[in-house]
Amino acid sequence: LSEKLNQAFKRLRSKGRLKEEDIKEAMREVRLALLEADVNFKVARDFVKAVTEKAVGKEVLESLTPAQQVIKIVRDEMTELMGSTNARINFSSKKPTIIMMCGLQGSGKTTHSAKLARHFRQEGKRPLLVACDVYRPAAIEQLKVVGAKVETPVFEMGQGDPVKIAEESLKYAKDYGYDPVILDTAGRLHIDEELMNELRAIKARVQPHEILLVVDAMVGQDSVNVASSFDEALGIDGVILTKLDGDTRGGAALSVRAVTGKPIKFVGTGEKLEDLEPFYPDRMASRILGMGDVLTLIEKAQTEMDEKAAIKTAQRLKENKFDMTDLLEQMKQVKNMGPLSQVLGMIPGLQGKLRDEDTQRGERELQRMEAIINSMTLRERERPDIINPSRKRRIAAGSGTSVEEVNRLLKQFRQMQQMMKQLAPKKGKRRPRMGFP
Ligand code: GDP
Ligand code: MG
Repeated sequence: LSEKLNQAFKRLRSKGRLKEEDIKEAMREVRLALLEADVNFKVARDFVKAVTEKAVGKEVLESLTPAQQVIKIVRDEMTELMGSTNARINFSSKKPTIIMMCGLQGSGKTTHSAKLARHFRQEGKRPLLVACDVYRPAAIEQLKVVGAKVETPVFEMGQGDPVKIAEESLKYAKDYGYDPVILDTAGRLHIDEELMNELRAIKARVQPHEILLVVDAMVGQDSVNVASSFDEALGIDGVILTKLDGDTRGGAALSVRAVTGKPIKFVGTGEKLEDLEPFYPDRMASRILGMGDVLTLIEKAQTEMDEKAAIKTAQRLKENKFDMTDLLEQMKQVKNMGPLSQVLGMIPGLQGKLRDEDTQRGERELQRMEAIINSMTLRERERPDIINPSRKRRIAAGSGTSVEEVNRLLKQFRQMQQMMKQLAPKKGKRRPRMGFP
């Protein structure tokens, strides 16, 4: 704990403005991260340039080092670029809403048609899947299999004309009250005019409300060409980025968004039909930069730590009055940041290494400490030295713990007080941010 506090105080002192070399240092990391994440190199270059200009001369937040601050600017900028809010499907006021899925072969159109159907069913809608990929009988069969799994009917007319099938499916949907209609179209291994012409013909005939491009996140650099070709030919409304479950960093998200300007609406995170998530630009930015959720953690700490409480704590520290009530307050603030497992899981390096039992033990420990303090009178909290054996027994009974546990907490508190005395700022207006183990 003392080391953590020391570090925190050190950071406090490195205030000032961002200097050119801070930015250069951080930008090297950022550029590498982008390329490693398979962001298209032109997109990466433009992005880094734009951010560098923004970063020069910015004030350094007191809780971050300059390099962290630059990365925070990068992340904010990237979040902004990828769309600050998560986008939704355009629903038509006239039923049914028509959603057309398009993309290269193997990108995940059929799978994600079914995932979307499942998603809509959960919202209480009655979707209809339509088999417009007519070139292989197996494709129709595949749609029927996944359709059955998500309890959604599949409209098919065998290997007929896809334009006609799309049109007929609308009549069917109107007659039987299905909404939305999801068109699963054919793909090709590469972009070709024949495919684009077919998709254009379907679009012209049924005028979909939403054309979704399905992009495999693993194609990396190529995603830029795929996205721009489809967008030029069809005018897409949004993107579903699939196969984000592997160790792909998701650079395609940034590239696709940068070249088309169209929002990413969902991400596919596995082969199972429940593996569909709304797109969160901030999470994707962290993923691309490969820093776990460390900045989320920093931001959380900044917003959740109630400013007033922090000032009060600082004041009490200065006056050497930090007592059990303050400790309780600190614990509550840690709790406000989320479940301990989640908070710890955001620290890079700890990810995946934390055993559930460890965090559970930590959480139970925090709960016990809280219960013990809650069972103390205000006077006891202010002056723990008055807690004699009979008071200890009362507190233990009241909190459902043991006298040993009460003793342990008292000992920990004394050590903490000792340490805080050493760390308390001697003078000045500096506002310390408290950490808690
Ligand atoms: P389509 O040719 O565009 O219709 O693509 P499919 O829906 O048939 O998917 C191609 C392959 O990718 C199948 O084996 C799917 O199981 C797999 N797939 C689709 N989406 C995902 C995903 O999000 N994660 C993973 N791991 N596999 C996926
Ligand atoms: Mg398919």
